[in-house]
Amino acid sequence: MTSSLVDVLVIGGGQAGLAAGYYLRRAKADFVILDAQDTPGGAWQHAWPSLRLFSPAQYSSLPGRMMPPPPGGGYPSAAHTVAYLSEYERRYQLPIIRPARVRAVRRGIDRLTVETDVGTWQARTVISATGTWWRPYVPYYPGVRDFRGQQLHTADYRGPQFFHGRRVVIVGGANSAAQILAEVSTVAETTWVTLRPPRLLPDDIDGRALFELATRRYQAAQAGQNAPRVADLGDIVAVPPVRDARDRGVLKAEPMFARITPHGVAWRDGTELACDVIVWCTGFRPALGHLAPLRLRGSDGLIPTEGTRALGEPRLHLLGYGDWTGPASATLIGASRTARDMVAEITAQR
Ligand code: FAD
Repeated sequence: MTSSLVDVLVIGGGQAGLAAGYYLRRAKADFVILDAQDTPGGAWQHAWPSLRLFSPAQYSSLPGRMMPPPPGGGYPSAAHTVAYLSEYERRYQLPIIRPARVRAVRRGIDRLTVETDVGTWQARTVISATGTWWRPYVPYYPGVRDFRGQQLHTADYRGPQFFHGRRVVIVGGANSAAQILAEVSTVAETTWVTLRPPRLLPDDIDGRALFELATRRYQAAQAGQNAPRVADLGDIVAVPPVRDARDRGVLKAEPMFARITPHGVAWRDGTELACDVIVWCTGFRPALGHLAPLRLRGSDGLIPTEGTRALGEPRLHLLGYGDWTGPASATLIGASRTARDMVAEITAQR
């Protein structure tokens, strides 16, 4: 195995890693991007085919190059996003090595040591941009091991065809649950369960309006003021299939069940519901396992940061995992602003 020196090493070649790459290239930095996937596109390669972004193409763009509108109009698909990201990294000739999985990041004397399955790098600065798709989260409910039906997570969902004629319980109160419910309810008997009553955003609020709100909040915070949170408006974007499901009357949610039985689910008051499949649309957690040797996680499982910089290891930046690493930084458009500020901070120290 070889050991190479580099100034900045980016872990992850999804949209966040590419946004970082764009600004690093512009700053003429010495950098490399390592990506565990065989091909470009990050998590979008694994999304279900009918998934549509919740913003138009021009509001789903990385710095420098607009996402072209999808053929036929409407909101872009996951495949369209993969094509855009593939073209993006070619256009800017980003130095990406794939497949290259980072196993561990460790402290060295004046650099961080990055161990991968294709060699070891010594980097002055490491940017971790590994996303969340790789760590699906399923909450624990008593009885789960005895369930005789099938269970799957958002990350396993490939489309409604598998559910024909089955009784399906869909768990989760956010966008993935609503979009999957909208499709599955056209071919199966569905029950939607959520921790809190789900809140649909008004029809005219999509990702574009959410981003503008996030921007106002960011600017207000810079000025030491308060502004409404995105979550104050609602949780679920009313994309066309979700509106259709609402109009069909299937978007009615039951409270969360208390346990799982061999043949279904049961509520605290003793009510039982038989089902064949449980779909857990219960979200994802940041994929941070490669950073474990640095021992940076707080009690909430996240790494405390100031902006993108890890408080416990100033040579490490985290990009794209959620609002805790920059407002809207886990979205296509939001990754840009955070990446720009992060690269400015990194290069200012050179
Ligand atoms: P990823 O796309 O996951 O990229 C991370 C890359 O890092 C991957 O290629 C991965 O293989 C690699 N990696 C991971 N671990 C390692 C390792 N140890 N070593 C090397 N490489 C590693 N955002 C929007 O803007 N608009 C939307 O409409 C939208 N819809 C969404 C719908 C769903 C169902 C989900 C789950 C998310 C959605 N998002 C949306 C949010 C976000 O844009 C995506 O989650 C996006 O994929 C995040 O990009 P990323 O670069 O942070 O992570």
